[in-house]
Amino acid sequence: MIGNLVELNNGVKMPNFGLGVWNSSNGKEVQNAVKWALDAGYRCIDTAAIYKNEEGVGIAIANSGFEREDIFITTKLWNSDQRSGNIRSAFDRSLKKLNLDYVDLYLIHWAVNGKFNFAWEELTKLLREGQAKAIGVSNFMVHHLEELLSKTDVVPAVNQVEYHPYLVQPALKSFCKSKNIKLQAWSPLMQGGIMKVQELMEMGKKYGKNAAQIVLRWNLQSNVLTIPKSANHDRIKSNADIFDFELSDADMQAIDNLDRSQRIGPDPDNFDF
Ligand code: NDP
Repeated sequence: MIGNLVELNNGVKMPNFGLGVWNSSNGKEVQNAVKWALDAGYRCIDTAAIYKNEEGVGIAIANSGFEREDIFITTKLWNSDQRSGNIRSAFDRSLKKLNLDYVDLYLIHWAVNGKFNFAWEELTKLLREGQAKAIGVSNFMVHHLEELLSKTDVVPAVNQVEYHPYLVQPALKSFCKSKNIKLQAWSPLMQGGIMKVQELMEMGKKYGKNAAQIVLRWNLQSNVLTIPKSANHDRIKSNADIFDFELSDADMQAIDNLDRSQRIGPDPDNFDF
């Protein structure tokens, strides 16, 4: 396995590095991506009901020959199911598509106001029953977390949010740390845009690495879990080639300083889906 296992707040161990599969289509594309990632040492796969590729992920896992406990699978509750309140049936659908008995991590995909507290209570049942080994949230800002924590005793294990050099979110990061919630980066590569950031390309030359590798290494040294997406064999391998160097404190700080509070994805306080 590449990367390290980190301990979540309920004792479950999760790889700090994994493969994202958003935009990988359900057939051969996602099956190949998962296979190549497993071959390259990835042990964590991040999907979601809305990605419409849970079946493909499930097929790749079944074909991999790995023991179930050696692979960490995350999937997510979609907003329409959160709104309707049919949490259990949405979860069962995901499990069936993935062809699994349990998922390692189940996330509320977005904080739907007026709905997420109920959804969370339903997730805590899945946790108690062992169908989800850990539960968490995604796209929750500090105020969403404060509201949730005021209503529950079960602290989310993970908050998966947009996080990259142009969106560092220091306040959210320190809040999550104070509550023992692991922060996980989505779009860590700025959906490919990272390769155009001059400062990162320059820094990469010093370490013999490309901008993507610099940023993924910065994630891990910042204690941020990361799930770069690629469906390309070479890029899946090269994104994982980040365990033979270490960024200096000065370079870590230099990447933090690129922050522009600039989102690529939707605003978690103002989305219309
Ligand atoms: P990423 O930042 O991971 O970037 C993926 C894009 O960059 C793809 O177009 C990929 O193309 C390209 N790419 C990958 N590696 C390289 C490289 N080394 N050099 C140049 N280009 C590269 O974006 P995502 O938005 O996909 O985020 C990662 C994962 O996070 C998602 O797949 C998903 O699992 C999760 N996510 C969660 C969200 C949430 O709301 N919770 C929202 C968005 C994402 P190619 O495939 O051709 O390599």
